[in-house]
Amino acid sequence: MAKNSLRVKKIKEIYYGFLSERPKNFNTATDKTQHQIVYIVKLRFFMKEKLELILKEASEEINNSNNLTELEDVKVKYLSRKGELNSIKKNLKDLSDEEKRTIGSLANNISNQLNEMISAKNQELYRIELNKKLINEKIDITLPSDYRPQGKIHPLTQTINEIVEIFQGLGFSVMPSEYSPEVETEYINFDMLNFPPNHPAKDMQDTFYTKTAPNVILRSQTSGAQIRQMLNKKPPLRVISPGRVYRCESVSARKNNLFHQIEGLMVDTDITFADLKGVLNEFVRIYFGSSRPTRFRASYFPFTEPSAEVDVQCIMCQGKGCRTCSGTGWLEVLGAGMVHYNVLKNVGIDPEIYSGFAFGMGVERLTMLKYAINDIRLFFNNDTRFLNQF
Ligand SMILES: [Zn+2]
Repeated sequence: MAKNSLRVKKIKEIYYGFLSERPKNFNTATDKTQHQIVYIVKLRFFMKEKLELILKEASEEINNSNNLTELEDVKVKYLSRKGELNSIKKNLKDLSDEEKRTIGSLANNISNQLNEMISAKNQELYRIELNKKLINEKIDITLPSDYRPQGKIHPLTQTINEIVEIFQGLGFSVMPSEYSPEVETEYINFDMLNFPPNHPAKDMQDTFYTKTAPNVILRSQTSGAQIRQMLNKKPPLRVISPGRVYRCESVSARKNNLFHQIEGLMVDTDITFADLKGVLNEFVRIYFGSSRPTRFRASYFPFTEPSAEVDVQCIMCQGKGCRTCSGTGWLEVLGAGMVHYNVLKNVGIDPEIYSGFAFGMGVERLTMLKYAINDIRLFFNNDTRFLNQF
């Protein structure tokens, strides 16, 4: 054994020695020839030994590889294009045809052997690493799962989406949100909408005033959005605007100091009350279903003339009269009317050329009527037993 390893060491010395004594530039042609003769003699003599040495060393390194990365390094070292085996094959050209055959086939043989050993070792190491991974990443399928209840869209948001979709189908588009701020000036919320100063209609819409700035309020209605829209864009207009509004009111089953409205506006030449009736009847038909009769009742709003309240037949008693409808058989769902002459004038639209209609509907009320909900506070209590029903 000791004798053998000594021999290997010697061969190594000689082999690396003769490779280094192969300079690229020779002074004379004779120098080159003489050198080549010596070189080829040595090459012939040691080629076989070198190949056997490679096989021995590579086999050891393959067996000693502890993981796939180490094994890959061994593969590159011996079998790649720049590997040791290939550099021997490159030197074959200096040998006779006979020697090329024997050494060449030996080299191929060794390369095949090494490839087989590497692929066997590769599978072995892969299995070991896979097992290690499987043990480390074991999943216990008997553990109870981490249950997270899925959220739902709030019924009011569902109603808003539904109504917006209906009006989009009728050719309306949603107003840009910057035209519909919740913190509004008294000027836009009342004055521009033709509320005369100190008019009792203002009392019906008592809202929250701020101390920080005079005349800045929480809007009592979404109608201010009409004004901002008309100040910024000229007719033809066909827009809707959903949003929150506020009233200074004591909270009860029927009233809350925060609720939602959807404002609608259509302005063009030749818009008549018949257009208003057509659009709103179509809306009620789609929203409540065609079996619900509607009626238009004369009413008063400062910013529309003529004005109307739209009622649908009571969902609770089917028109017979009950507590919900105060015995009338009808439920008020929205207010509407032709845009007032003064309002058009206020926003710089010529009322002699243009006309239009506007409407506002309470989202809470429409949701309560559709689903027969009897208390508005349920929308704001965040009780999941209620909310999960939608
Ligand atoms: Zn009723």
